[in-house]
Amino acid sequence: MLANQLWERTCERLKKIFTAEVYRLWIARLKVLDYESNILSLGVWDEFAQIWFKENYVSALEATLREITGESITVQLQVVSFEDHSESSEEQEDSSQTEKLTESSVSQNMPAIPPTVYTPGTTTEVQNILNPKYTFESFVVGDNSSMAHAAAMAVAQNPGQSYNPLFIYGGVGLGKTHLLHAIGNRVIANAVKMGKRVRVVYVTLEKFLNEYIEAVREQKCDRFRRKYRRVDVLLIDDVQFLTGREGLQEEFFHTFNDLYNDKKQIVLTSDRSLSEIKKLEERLVSRFSWGLVTDIQPPNVDLRMAILKQKAKDMNFQMPDEVCVFLAQKIRANVRELEGALIRMGSYINLTQASWSIETAKVALQDLLSRQLAQAPNIEDIQKKVATVYDIRVADLISKKRPANIAFPRQVAMYLCRELTHQPLIAIGEAFGGRDHGTVIHACKVVENQMDVDDNVRNSIQKLKNELEY
Ligand code: ADP
Ligand code: MG
Repeated sequence: MLANQLWERTCERLKKIFTAEVYRLWIARLKVLDYESNILSLGVWDEFAQIWFKENYVSALEATLREITGESITVQLQVVSFEDHSESSEEQEDSSQTEKLTESSVSQNMPAIPPTVYTPGTTTEVQNILNPKYTFESFVVGDNSSMAHAAAMAVAQNPGQSYNPLFIYGGVGLGKTHLLHAIGNRVIANAVKMGKRVRVVYVTLEKFLNEYIEAVREQKCDRFRRKYRRVDVLLIDDVQFLTGREGLQEEFFHTFNDLYNDKKQIVLTSDRSLSEIKKLEERLVSRFSWGLVTDIQPPNVDLRMAILKQKAKDMNFQMPDEVCVFLAQKIRANVRELEGALIRMGSYINLTQASWSIETAKVALQDLLSRQLAQAPNIEDIQKKVATVYDIRVADLISKKRPANIAFPRQVAMYLCRELTHQPLIAIGEAFGGRDHGTVIHACKVVENQMDVDDNVRNSIQKLKNELEY
């Protein structure tokens, strides 16, 4: 959603929450600046207003944004000039590094160039705001992301020295942007501690591209280059958009080389691996592989539970374990969806005063759950998988034969069908050579008993379950 659209929708709700007076005096005067990485940047007119908003209105704004988008959005307030000078000030960037406290190249609504923000009281400069909630502390690490997480930490501790560049790839909603911001946040925190100056730039490739096009059009390429080639840590998100953009790849290549030669840190993320980014120039591929290439895999059910628990705690939700298990089992696509489900359920409960139960989850997340259903494995998938794992044929599972080496796998397959497919027992029995539903129930009991008494059986079935979920 665009910043303006989001803000308009938020205002519609806020009008109902606040009195007309408060709305007119405070809310209506805010300026939308930017919306990216789950941060909505709003402009206020002075420092007093900034503090007043933080103390009185920000939590209501964030709660409303959460309800509208289903995502956890941080409101960031910046003092900006409220005078109407559109597209102002020639940029006076000399290399003498004069300390300016604010730079207001902020035009009326959307800044043509993202504002540079200096963290007050420090000599640290961050360009394109980092989400303060995306930190290493708030990232739940599992086997799926341990490499990426460790590499990101190493890079944040010693930028430019350990892995350069660091290239992180993985499917959507798995925490790439989160890690990228965590690096930026950590680098800045360290610099502040040591009283050092550091320049961190976070930018999506899309934005980099737009700025580049604009720079070319306005013949301000030098300025563009200076901006990107004087940073200490360059964090570039979603580089899969480099696909087939030759001019940009050229520019990117040179920026990359300059920074690399100066031992400046570069971190890149992509939702595709290097070989899957189409038409990526060979020389860029080779540059990107100089450092460390690492991936993030989807979380398994245990990790999904750990993430849910952590997020519920952060949001002060009193979520019982059974609801946690239910959500973790049903919502499998990625962490963003998991988080979205939790937020939606929380908002629903806030509004209706319903309790934290599985029944409530089913109502509040109806459409999400039915979408997941469509992706659940079917009986045939399960039969194939079980047959492979136990080294028998699918035909054996369906046949009337009952030797032990077939009987138990068959029971496991039936159990998995009941757990994962949402098919009625009759249909499951039918698919196993026309057995009746009593046989399926019996099979499930046998398997559950075995899982209780035998750790090996439990682990191997758990593993099968996880694998079938994708
Ligand atoms: P991506 O950039 O890979 O598409 P994001 O970094 O935007 O994904 O993550 C989506 C959401 O899920 C964010 O709110 C993020 O904080 C959260 N998230 C992702 N992975 C984790 C994790 N391992 N621990 C905690 N939160 C996570
Ligand atoms: Mg992302």
